[in-house]
Amino acid sequence: MAQHPNDPSLRSWIPVPKDSDFPIQNLPLGIAAWNGEPPVPCTRIGDTVVDLSILADSAMLDGLDIPREAFLAPHLNAIMAHGKTAVRALRERLSELLRADNTSFRDDNTLREDALLPLDQVVMHLPVQVGDYTDFYSSRQHAYNVGVMFRDPANALLPNWLHLPVGYHGRSSSIVVSGTPIHRPMGQYKPAPDAAPVFGASRQLDFELEVAFITFDGKPLGQRISTAEAEDHILGLVLFNDWSARDIQAWEYVPLGPFLGKNFGSSMSPWVVLLDALEPFRVSSPQQDPEVLPYLKQGPKHHFDIGLEVSITPEGGEENVICRSNLKHLYWSMAQQLAHHTVNGCNVRAGDVMASGTISGEEPGSFGSLLELSWKGTKPIALKDGAQRTFIQDGDTVTIRGHAAAGGVRIGFGEVRGEVLPAVPFA
Ligand code: MN
Repeated sequence: MAQHPNDPSLRSWIPVPKDSDFPIQNLPLGIAAWNGEPPVPCTRIGDTVVDLSILADSAMLDGLDIPREAFLAPHLNAIMAHGKTAVRALRERLSELLRADNTSFRDDNTLREDALLPLDQVVMHLPVQVGDYTDFYSSRQHAYNVGVMFRDPANALLPNWLHLPVGYHGRSSSIVVSGTPIHRPMGQYKPAPDAAPVFGASRQLDFELEVAFITFDGKPLGQRISTAEAEDHILGLVLFNDWSARDIQAWEYVPLGPFLGKNFGSSMSPWVVLLDALEPFRVSSPQQDPEVLPYLKQGPKHHFDIGLEVSITPEGGEENVICRSNLKHLYWSMAQQLAHHTVNGCNVRAGDVMASGTISGEEPGSFGSLLELSWKGTKPIALKDGAQRTFIQDGDTVTIRGHAAAGGVRIGFGEVRGEVLPAVPFA
């Protein structure tokens, strides 16, 4: 009987550094390019990238219900078009080929030479062609903090919040892969509450610590996905920084919600960690009170215990971890988010990105944005070099990392990183 890809005893013939996010139990999917060649689907073990186009070309991925051409595409959508069962079989095949006692790949010198690449020689691309991007608002502590700061502490949560996973439609065109710099946005904002609006570079640029899931094709327009079916339509997760300009956002958002304060950039980690690889880290979903409507009811364990951290590195300076949080802090699960998203008949497609919303825990050090960490700019954060931050400065690099660990296995995402460049001046 073949061992399950999540079996903690599995080892690969490819070396895995201690504390790597990418042991053989992970096997994420991503899109990488090197030597100026077109980008192709890959997986990763330790610090080695494995080219799936070469494996497919050598017939190593035959018989999986995924045609060879899908492994030549510059994004994962062509593979995802074949659905969850096919991608699960792909991960099982990769696990077999890469485990220590399998000789078919290990002992083929030509194949090894062609298909294995050191991580530092590849350029990572966006893993999927993103059709639509939805951002939720599913951390209770985050929604509470924002409500206290901008409205009334006694009624911090808006009346709908405990009844449905609040979300908005974002913009897919400005989603970029980790490492892509972000220009400080220009826009309208009010320099003081009673002042007239002005135009200029945002003075309150922020990050949002989020995790996003990437969907397979859903059901046809008009049909619903239930909470029980939802995870069959989820490929996996990425780290997600939903950059936000708080001053632009505060002035524009009534009555239709986020717009230019949000759509100038969102950064995504390059490796999609498959939901199957995160099974060992499933935890109980929180008790929901008031009771949710029947279409939002779900099984007991639709949350995942994944530690997350955010750091700021000033230009030429030292890295400062400023937040430690966890994906399990969400009130609404991914299954509830997807069920709610489709309950009106809205269709989702392979490659859609659905982000969690800022993930804040109860402790102040776990708040997932500078807005909350600096409490609207009133409590500056001290950096190691003696400087302070209330919001992000030009030249700062924001990095989000995340991993889960249990039973001797660590499964992680690597990182999503982005440097903030000055606003682009008018020509
Ligand atoms: Mn967000």
